[in-house]
Order: sequence, then C-alpha cells, then structure tokens
Amino acid sequence: MSSAPLILRSFFKKFKKTKKSNFEIDFKKIDISLISVHAIKTIEILEGNGFEAYIVGGAVRDLLFGIKPKDFDVVTNATPDQIHRLFKRSRIIGRRFKLVHVIYGREVIEVSTYRSKQKEIPQPDGSIIKDDNYYGTIEEDAMRRDFTINAMFYSPIHHKLVDFHNGLDDLKFGIIQMIGDPEKRYQEDPIRILRAFRVCAKLNIALNTSSRKPIEKVVPLLHNIPHSRLFDEVIKFFLTGHALNSYKVMRNENIYSQFFLSPEFETKEISLFISNGLKNTDLRISRDKSCNPSFLFSFLLWHQVCQLWDQYKIELKHSIGGLNQAIDEVIEEQVKLFPIHKRFTIAMREIWRLQPRFENQSPKKIYRLLLHPRFRAAYDFMLLRCQSNQLDQGIGIWWTNFIDADHHKKSLIVNQLTRK
Ligand code: ATP
Ligand code: MG
Repeated sequence: MSSAPLILRSFFKKFKKTKKSNFEIDFKKIDISLISVHAIKTIEILEGNGFEAYIVGGAVRDLLFGIKPKDFDVVTNATPDQIHRLFKRSRIIGRRFKLVHVIYGREVIEVSTYRSKQKEIPQPDGSIIKDDNYYGTIEEDAMRRDFTINAMFYSPIHHKLVDFHNGLDDLKFGIIQMIGDPEKRYQEDPIRILRAFRVCAKLNIALNTSSRKPIEKVVPLLHNIPHSRLFDEVIKFFLTGHALNSYKVMRNENIYSQFFLSPEFETKEISLFISNGLKNTDLRISRDKSCNPSFLFSFLLWHQVCQLWDQYKIELKHSIGGLNQAIDEVIEEQVKLFPIHKRFTIAMREIWRLQPRFENQSPKKIYRLLLHPRFRAAYDFMLLRCQSNQLDQGIGIWWTNFIDADHHKKSLIVNQLTRK
C-alpha cells in the first residue's frame, strides 16, 4: 500500500470528522470558494423543490484534495423530467440512461438521477441481457461508480459528506481502490483501466494491490473501446494539467506503448525534448491557454520521424524526400495503434515538414514561411527543439526577433542575412 504525501496527511488532519451515522460525515472545511456557484445553485433549486441533491464523483475527490475541480456533476433523486422542468435552460441528453445538462452560459452542470444496480434479465433462449437503465437509491448509485475515492457525495448546503465505501480513508492514504471485483469491473468497462492511471497521475497516488493485479490480464481489452471514447480519455492524460506525470505513469505501467510508437532507441536528448514539451503543455494549461492535440502528438512522435528520416535521406539521397517518407511511415504505423483523426495528422505533417524551413536563409522563403497558416505551431515546435538543444539556439532567437519586429525592422533583419 502506498501512502499519501505528508502534505496530504496534514491537510486531512485539518478536518474534524464527526460521524453522524455509518456513512454520513459532517464536513465543514471543504473550501467552498473552489465550488462552482452554478453547482451550488443547481443543488439549492433541487432541494428547494423537495429533492435530495449532491455534488458527486471526481469533483468531491478533487475538493477534498484542495484542487479546483474541472467539472461538476450533481446527482439527485429527481427524475430527468422533474429536473428539466425546474431549469429553464436545460436539456435532457442520452438515449438509454437519460441525464440533464443544466446550462449557465459557458458552464454546464451535469445532473443525473441516482442509478440502480445493473439488472440481469434472463431471456427465453437462456442468454442474459444486462439492463442498466433503472433509477435507484444513493447507495446503489455509489456502487456503480468506479473507485472508492470517486464515489463520495457532498452537499455544499448541509456540509455533509456521504461516503459508503471509505473513499475518504483511501484518499487520505493515497490509494485508488476499485469498488467491487476489480477484474469484473475492468472487463465491464475497460476505460476504467485508463481512468485508474489518470487519477494516479493527477493526484500522485497509487492503485492498491487488488485493483492493480488484474491489469495485465485486462489491458488487451483497451482495444475494444470505441475510438472516440478512447481518444478523449487518452487526451485527458495529457491536456488536463498533469501531462508530465501522466507520461511517467503511462510509461511505468506499460500503457504508453499501447497507444504510441516509441523511437527505436531512447537517448537523454529525446527524454529532455519530450519532458520539455510536456512541461510546456502543463504550463499552458495552468495559464488557461489552449493546447492542440496535434502539437502534442507532434512532439511525442518527432524522434520516430527523425530516426527514419536519417535512414531515408541516405537511401533516397534527398533530405526533404527522406523527411516526407519518414512522416508518411510514422503516421501510417501510428494510426494503426491509436486512432488519431485526419485533421490532426494533417497538422502534424505540416509542423514537421516546416522544420527544415526555419534553417533556410533566403529572404523570399523566410517571408513565405511566415505567411504559412501553420507557422505559429511550427515556430513553437522549433523553439522546443532549441530549448532541448536539438537546434542551434541562435535560430530560435533570430526568428523570435524577426516576428516581434515591425515591417521596417523585419526587412533590416532580413537584409543583414543577405549581407553576411
Ligand atoms: P475528471 O473530471 O477530473 O477527469 P472524474 O472522476 O470526475 O475525473 P468524470 O468523467 O467527470 O471523471 O466522471 C465523473 C464520475 O462518474 C466519476 O468520478 C465516477 O464516479 C463516475 N464514472 C465516470 N466514468 C465511469 C466509469 N467508466 N465507470 C464507473 N464510474 C464512472
Ligand atoms: Mg469530473
């Protein structure tokens, strides 16, 4: 069993727990300022109309950890129709199990009705159909969630934490534990394998032994997950503020190679390049800047391209031809492993193909590169190469000065090049 970092332990000491019943704990010290006012308003309206309502899942886990949750889910005993009637700006979504999106400008609070256990309905031919479209109790709802730390309910109005599975203790000790039989639950929904490691990376905690044991056996099931769901989940590893840690966890757990090609040989230089790329990504997310998946994939796969490029430029006796062939091959192999949509691979190709052009000193070509629609991403990528000592730092400095200069100064800078 791994233990939580010291900081976390002392954080939890701050809470004075008074057990009211077995499962309900008075919990006054969650930092209310971290909670979305819209989530609170949604709960107030539901409660004001005689229903129960709680914040649930990852948002509660993050609040207990002192992190601002990225989204808020609310559960209630009101049915979707009842919820929809209470909120003018809401819509019912989902075909089988319906839930409600309550819309507050750019923020959406997802409100769902407590779900019951999956019902197994025997068929005349002896087979069993699993039906999971029933509403249930709060306790049944907790049972259906994945990990104990994701199955807590919190009322910001009554300052009450409802915790049927000792999620609070697990969080305190830094462990992720599956609810129910881990192997069955991974089989039921293999995305839980990724969710487990994503929480490990996000909170720097670890899977407990019983939840880890079946992983090796169930990992092949990852490839049964529908592409779009898989893509979204893998992207969350990298574009939610903990990319560097995610990369480490995925590599250590042999998950990374399920989705991404790795270079034929690894060097310190490659590790530095990737960790700089991941650090920059985390920094951008912390500053609320956008991050495009194509840039991420470009730097994760750059060295596979480079290693093949070295080979093909000799074979083809043509540098650019070699680069193009390397790019084609890497993309072809990569998409077999993990479905990267064409709109991203188009951008990746451009980012890579533009790299040699940063070293070209012809004024005409410099201006043409500046006007290229993918210039900004390719420029950032070139800076990453400089930052990681893969390209002469002077090239990065030259381009930064050039793009920062006004029209007149730009031509002076270019003229200096031609005079050299
Ligand atoms: P984050 O939002 O930080 O990525 P999260 O745990 O909140 O993490 P969500 O996708 O927002 O993830 O899911 C909200 C909650 O729904 C989870 O905390 C968990 O209780 C439940 N949940 C989500 N996906 C599953 C699943 N595949 N199996 C069981 N429960 C799930
Ligand atoms: Mg969430």
